[in-house]
Amino acid sequence: MELYALTAHELSEKLIRREVSAREVTQSVLGRIASTEERVHAYVTVTESIALAQADAVDTARASGESVSPLAGIPIALKDNLCTTGIETTCSSKILRGFVPPYSATVVEKLEASGSVFIGKANLDEFAMGSSTENSAFGASHNPWDIDSAPGGSSGGSTAAVAAGEAVWAIGSDTGGSIRQPAAFCGVVGLKPTYGRVSRYGLIAFASSLDQIGPITKDVRDAALLMNLISGHDSRDSTSIVRDVPDYTASLTGGVKGLKLGVPKEYFAQGVSPEVSASVRTAIDVLVAQGAIAEEISLPHSEYALPTYYILAPAEASSNLARYDGVRFGHRTARATNHVDLFEKSREEGFGPEVKQRIMIGTYALSAGYYDAFYLKAQKVRTLIKRDFDLAFEKYDAIIAPTAPTVAFKLGEVSDPLAMKLNDVLTIPANMAGIPAISLPCGFSNGLPIGLQLMAPNFGEETLFQIAYAYEQATQWHLGRAQL
Ligand code: GLN
Repeated sequence: MELYALTAHELSEKLIRREVSAREVTQSVLGRIASTEERVHAYVTVTESIALAQADAVDTARASGESVSPLAGIPIALKDNLCTTGIETTCSSKILRGFVPPYSATVVEKLEASGSVFIGKANLDEFAMGSSTENSAFGASHNPWDIDSAPGGSSGGSTAAVAAGEAVWAIGSDTGGSIRQPAAFCGVVGLKPTYGRVSRYGLIAFASSLDQIGPITKDVRDAALLMNLISGHDSRDSTSIVRDVPDYTASLTGGVKGLKLGVPKEYFAQGVSPEVSASVRTAIDVLVAQGAIAEEISLPHSEYALPTYYILAPAEASSNLARYDGVRFGHRTARATNHVDLFEKSREEGFGPEVKQRIMIGTYALSAGYYDAFYLKAQKVRTLIKRDFDLAFEKYDAIIAPTAPTVAFKLGEVSDPLAMKLNDVLTIPANMAGIPAISLPCGFSNGLPIGLQLMAPNFGEETLFQIAYAYEQATQWHLGRAQL
């Protein structure tokens, strides 16, 4: 296999044994970008010269016997809502075109310190609002398994890059499913960690009570390795939690004997395609054959998760996005005649339609007279959703379900914004509850990947890795590579 098609743990072994150099790995990925990026459009910015300089630094350090991280020299894609010092960070929005942050996200700093090679900034739906990357101001990304299909979103550039071999692994963010749903669509592994496990400092905020950064990888071992690199407390993010970070690879034991899995009946209901249902049921059988116990459960408030999310997330977004006013950074209108005009026209010109719609919904939901009816009520429902999970986890180690109701749809096929939002019905509940959830490949329908979702109690990432790895060991889905 070409270097770009290998996993990070495979490359790490080769790098440590000095069978390959970081420069060779990086050049292999850059070569792949040169031949496929025109069709995939995974990136907003490819940082070729930075990547080569970082790779050379790693090679020099290794050659001179300096102690370097075993994962040093692996090319990574960063979703373009992560601030990177000196590298343009756009959130795929015209309003941030040309914005070069004066600081880096904590996750970016951690990756830099471990010798990561930054290959580029990956495309996303504008401000991470969407499920297909079609809301990007710079054009949609394409699904490497079928170039006419959507890669999912909002981290669709990151997942497309990994699936295409245009990055070895990637970082995404997940507010309502934006790591897991595109991971499912692109046939890769994506984890939304427990809220507070990974620092959000330097992640451009969408909905702060839901946003979480996580890994996008070719297999479960890589996801555990990348979590080792990015997790941990950060005094610059007050919602990050003081708690030791385990070595997540220690959970990759391969055994699931006696583990209890809850299968929520609401996640197999109307709207979930028969192919997706069947693949996930087969995956459950695979785990049961290895000694896991699976039982049907109910999470009765699941149906309220989507409408609740679409009050809370826009409310937080309307507040977070108030800072884009054309004054200190980002797009500034050339047509302003006074300062109010400056704010209005800069925002009118800079934001796309989906972002504007969410700002309006959020502002409305927070306005005097409506606050109690919408925002406060949604917060109460959020508690009920969380309680469903708390009760389930009294009896079950993890919950198993599909990640998305269907496989990838064609670009341009879903024009109704409400239908687009229905993509996230199965991923939003985990964000509401703050719990960790992973998606991994479990089959194909018409040549397009299907995603299996596992959810665990807070800080149950180890349980997710244990089950996901056992499943992966028993199946072949993670070995597939998209032909481009
Ligand atoms: N698709 C959902 C939305 O549009 C979730 C996005 C996300 O997780 N960032 O809001």
